[in-house]
Amino acid sequence: MRILITNIGELTTNTPADPERVEGADPCGTLHDAAVLIEDDRIAWVGPADDAPDADEVVDAAGRAVIPGFVDSHSHLVFGGDRAAEFEARMQGQKYAAGGIRSTVAATRGASDDELRARLRGFLDEMLAQGTTTVEIKSGYGLDLATEERLVRLAAEVTPEVTFLGAHVVPAEYADRGDEYVDLVTGAMLDACAPHAKWIDVFCETGAFTVPQSRRVLEAGIARGLQPRVHASQLGPGEGVQLAVELGAASIDHGTYLTDADVDALAASDTVLTLLPGVEFSTRQPYPDARRLIDAGVTVAIACDTNPGSSFTSSMPFCIAVAVRDMRMTVAEAIHAATAGGAAALRRTDIGAIAPGMRADVVLLKSTSRVHLAYRPGVPLVDAVWKDGVRAV
Ligand SMILES: [Zn+2]
Repeated sequence: MRILITNIGELTTNTPADPERVEGADPCGTLHDAAVLIEDDRIAWVGPADDAPDADEVVDAAGRAVIPGFVDSHSHLVFGGDRAAEFEARMQGQKYAAGGIRSTVAATRGASDDELRARLRGFLDEMLAQGTTTVEIKSGYGLDLATEERLVRLAAEVTPEVTFLGAHVVPAEYADRGDEYVDLVTGAMLDACAPHAKWIDVFCETGAFTVPQSRRVLEAGIARGLQPRVHASQLGPGEGVQLAVELGAASIDHGTYLTDADVDALAASDTVLTLLPGVEFSTRQPYPDARRLIDAGVTVAIACDTNPGSSFTSSMPFCIAVAVRDMRMTVAEAIHAATAGGAAALRRTDIGAIAPGMRADVVLLKSTSRVHLAYRPGVPLVDAVWKDGVRAV
């Protein structure tokens, strides 16, 4: 099956997917009056609309913008209940703390597989409708062996990007016995979860896990063939970034409080800094300065961190709008970070760009420019989505 999307007014290719950062260069690899040929599940050709090859089906973009599908590299989509009351109280002045996770743990343990599965599919549908074609999903609301195994197994039904986050927070039954909980996470729980997961993650933060505990978790996961990624420096400065870089993590996520040494270490590494603008928005924390990171040469990604506590949005366009307004990114940088940046954070070379050989994950916008994604926050701007070459929206 050959599908030609033609008459594209503005095509974001992100080619090359990870461009050398040249001052003033367009990170989006923009083409005008362009066409894209999809053949089966891959991009087969990209070029001027006038030179477009024949196809079985032709889609007229009518001068509108086309971008790669969003790669949302950080989410917590398998959970029970919600925390609307906590959000409401926070907006009235209560502070966000890592311990709130425990209320979601109770609701998740009490939910059946089918309840969690239906919820998960609902989130994926709403993400797809907003242009997200790849999503990473973490466990971390079970915090006992049986429930963590269920969460990674359910996540693996819908994405290859599954992260075992048994070390999300110390559960109530292990209060003041964090090291014993880490024994469980790095032992029997890891044995049960590793077969379903690609990634190992830990919340390295005051109130969650110390640096030595985090190191144990990550090293145990690496020994089982999982690749590391780290939640760090969300609520205050710490040594999580240095640990992540030392262990070759694909990504450090949050990074709200970074020292100059952290920024230098990231810039000299292959570790992506994943910005989660929905978190600062929903917790009224200060936004990290993306300009400082990008100007230092750090590769950045944008993700939603969809979760019931600190960021219950599933909208990459919303996160792009916030990153542009409050993290000082250009629109082109933000869209690149939400597509190619997410792919880099997942160490994927087959998504995040529109170029021959890449997976055919393509989004046709209702607007003639991708700028509208930041310029018209909250407005549904996605007209059509192809996922692996199949029309999904
Ligand atoms: Zn998270």
